[in-house]
Amino acid sequence: DLEALEQLKGKDNVTGDGRRIDIFANIGKVEDAQGALEADAGGIGLFRSEFLYLGRGNFPTEEEQFLSYKAVLEKMGEKKVVIRTLDIGADKKVDYFNLDEEENPALGYRAIRICLDRPEIFITQLRAIFRASAYGRAAIMFPMVVSTAEVRRIKEIVEQVKEELSTEGYPVKDVELGIMIETPAAALISDELAKEVDFFSIGTNDLTQYTLAVDRQNQKLESTCDTHHPAVLKLIEMTVKNGHKEGIWVGICGELAADTDLTETFLNMGVDELSVSASSVLKVRKAVRDI
Ligand code: PEP
Ligand code: MG
Repeated sequence: DLEALEQLKGKDNVTGDGRRIDIFANIGKVEDAQGALEADAGGIGLFRSEFLYLGRGNFPTEEEQFLSYKAVLEKMGEKKVVIRTLDIGADKKVDYFNLDEEENPALGYRAIRICLDRPEIFITQLRAIFRASAYGRAAIMFPMVVSTAEVRRIKEIVEQVKEELSTEGYPVKDVELGIMIETPAAALISDELAKEVDFFSIGTNDLTQYTLAVDRQNQKLESTCDTHHPAVLKLIEMTVKNGHKEGIWVGICGELAADTDLTETFLNMGVDELSVSASSVLKVRKAVRDI
């Protein structure tokens, strides 16, 4: 019950035999950081940045974005905050992006694909994040990656942004750069991708959709969508192994991270971090401690 869970605040995420795991929170707006702290999350494992772009008529400025990231980083203090770059497109439509109607939006022009095609949008966001990184412990992750070439291009743009900021006199910190593993392609080439980045975070919502060819929005398909499907679990396991071979940490930030029927499976696979909604942090801590 709730009261028993409350007792777990301040306790470690550790199994009976001493295996530790980080339990972080997913947030979707600045004010959610408070809830993450109240839930005793170890950090923010997924800060979805779409809130900055949705429900308005024009692009958010660098300054607006900077202030939002800074507010969360300051709030979280020493705790890590993984900021995910723009994941617009597919179900998340925004008028001022002037996106075309698409036959298959989930397979379409979205997320990192937009950012690499329209670098001015991407650069503004990266500038804001790097400027804010002086105020806490930021990490950056990129959604919907399918190839090594994309990651190399991302890193080139990041370097360019860091140089520009440094020339302008901003202090530029080294920030961990990671990618979401949320396409079967990314999981299958995670051995190669692991050489390019500092961490992986597995997005099981999209990874499941693309692996099982099941639209995550279609409620009629809920029974077809076996979230414990061995194909998805194999891809997760492969990703963790390949990440660890290159010495990088691997987390899970999709809904599956909060599924306590799988907590022991994830620990056995060696998953380093689970990022869940603030309301699930203590529930997952309990599951870990009961193992
Ligand atoms: C995911 O795909 O699992 C994920 C965490 O990203 P989003 O749900 O925002 O697509
Ligand atoms: Mg996703």
